[in-house]
Amino acid sequence: MLTTIFLLAGCNDGKKAETQIATKDDDIDSTFEYRVDRFADIEILRYPVPGFNSLSLQQKELIYYLSQAALEGRDILWDQHNRYNLTIRRVCEGVYENYMGDKSTEDWKNFETYLKQIWMANGIHHHYSEDKILPKFSKEYFTTIVKSVDPGRMPFRDGMAADETLTEIVPVMFDPNIMPKRMNQAAGVDLIKTSAVNFYEGVTQKEVEDFYNKMKNPNDATPVSYGLNSKVVKKDGVVAEQVWKKGGMYDKAITRIIGWLEKAADVAENEQQKAVINTLIDFYKTGDLKTFDNYSIKWVSDTSSHVDFVNGFIETYTDPLGMKGSWESIVNFKNIEATKRTETISANAQWFEDNSPIDPRFKKSEVKGVSAKVITAAILGGDCYPATPIGINLPNSNWIRAQHGSKSVTIENITYAYDKAAEGNGFNEEFMWSDYERALSKKYGSLTDNLHTDLHECLGHGSGKLLPEVDEDALKAYGSPLEEARADLFALYYLADPKLVELRLLPDDEAYKSEYYKYIMNGAMTQFTRIQPGKNIEQAHMRNRALISNWVMEKGKTDSVVVFKQKEGKTYVVINDYHKLRNLFGELLAEVQRIKSEGDYEAGKKLVETYGVKVDPKLHKEVLARYEKLNLAPYKGFVNPVYKPVTDANGKITDITISYDENYIDQQLRYSRQYSVLPLKN
Ligand code: ZN
Repeated sequence: MLTTIFLLAGCNDGKKAETQIATKDDDIDSTFEYRVDRFADIEILRYPVPGFNSLSLQQKELIYYLSQAALEGRDILWDQHNRYNLTIRRVCEGVYENYMGDKSTEDWKNFETYLKQIWMANGIHHHYSEDKILPKFSKEYFTTIVKSVDPGRMPFRDGMAADETLTEIVPVMFDPNIMPKRMNQAAGVDLIKTSAVNFYEGVTQKEVEDFYNKMKNPNDATPVSYGLNSKVVKKDGVVAEQVWKKGGMYDKAITRIIGWLEKAADVAENEQQKAVINTLIDFYKTGDLKTFDNYSIKWVSDTSSHVDFVNGFIETYTDPLGMKGSWESIVNFKNIEATKRTETISANAQWFEDNSPIDPRFKKSEVKGVSAKVITAAILGGDCYPATPIGINLPNSNWIRAQHGSKSVTIENITYAYDKAAEGNGFNEEFMWSDYERALSKKYGSLTDNLHTDLHECLGHGSGKLLPEVDEDALKAYGSPLEEARADLFALYYLADPKLVELRLLPDDEAYKSEYYKYIMNGAMTQFTRIQPGKNIEQAHMRNRALISNWVMEKGKTDSVVVFKQKEGKTYVVINDYHKLRNLFGELLAEVQRIKSEGDYEAGKKLVETYGVKVDPKLHKEVLARYEKLNLAPYKGFVNPVYKPVTDANGKITDITISYDENYIDQQLRYSRQYSVLPLKN
């Protein structure tokens, strides 16, 4: 199940942060620099961590150790993404730090941009489009600069010479036909053979499916997350798993993660949290997925600790078969003021479930354990860095969610940083139909945006149920976009409900229109800015948004509920009837829920393929041209703050300081020096 949502660039552009965001804090002043770097299609931002200085010493220490554990897993993710990634990165970094030649040339600047791009993607494939990033300098130039550096300063493996290393990595970097996609989802081909991820080696999709089908027991009511923490390889004709654990694959990085977690356990806030950390350590030591489930249950039950974290093999987006967990980490603490909002939603979870417009057969008679909070991120690691989610809902195991609930968070200091960085960038002026929509967005945008995230995460994913005999993987590759659509539709449907005004979550019955307009504009049009000309929509969240937007536009055609209109040769989304639009969202929610509950693969496939994949080439071209003029970056990443322990004469920690002055290049290079212990190939 896909449970992390990412902010679409542009989608909350132009808003002033007028709502009471608890990120306003004495320790973040008006001189805070949100913008850090800009290259290719990327902008790097910085996020503030308000409230850190007011934490207790113990909490600060806990965050410090957990943040170290969060950074130690970086190279695991790099290697998971592709088996040449670590070699390519370290060779490029070796050149970057040691090249003595001319650095004023176009070639050198392109080389620097390439390095920044692969840092952003944690590998040579784009973090969002999955396409291989092709260098804008030649392989001849690359060969020359690599060979010009003293080999003693280069990370060539096992005494390999520059030539051997180059023979290995040059085709991977430069040949567009070699490993063109990190993860391929296009139907009709072997998804494993056509994906560049390092989750499988020497095996076919069929062999992997057979391997896991043999393991699965259809009568097991509490199945582990098969395949979550291993690579599948075929050796001497035998298919087997290489488990990611201490003593197994990624041993060196995992050993260091364990070391920091042990320190964290010593300063845990309470016994429950200590048990969570210790169970995670056990999992890293044994690789036992039952232990991982125990950890998840303990983690989801710990709702009272102020500091919290995610650390491990969590989301499965990057595996074409949706089983392998990419390594990620976020360390955070509760934003108490803003959490009151999500607590209100959670407290009314049953009301929302009971009144949802879906078939009663698919409703949960009892919605359990929807816990929700707003958090302040303190460090981002692995798959959450530099690009980061703005909301998380975990664990992913369906039976654990059903029996123990899930924890859902909105990361408000990140959305706040997006908002601040986007102020006045011209996006809404270009793409919104009139001053009416722009005024709505200005007045309600931040609020409804956050509320949409809360509803999506706290209620959307947790609502509804499968019919008893239905396999939770029945929708296969269409499962992810459909699940995201379900959660989004749930949020959209309820944003317009009078209940939200009654609960004082929204100030009036106009506010939801801001989110409705922005959502359709994005799904039907402006999200095209993230797609290369001639390409289809591939990313699950984007497919979901296109699916919803295109479906309501088509179904509402006869009543002109929401339409495209032209003005001075430009296309705009115009919503004529917000009330009917809400009903259409409800109708589609009922259908998507039916598809999920019944495991109706054919209907799900048809819905996604008809509405969520194709791009109108003419509109696409227009949107790209208009967007280009704004010179905005469609993707955003972040640098982390830097935490430093202050010690007394006896080496005892007396404080942890936080600073925000590290730039993108320095941070990436420092991480590569400080947190890079894996062999070049694993
Ligand atoms: Zn989601």
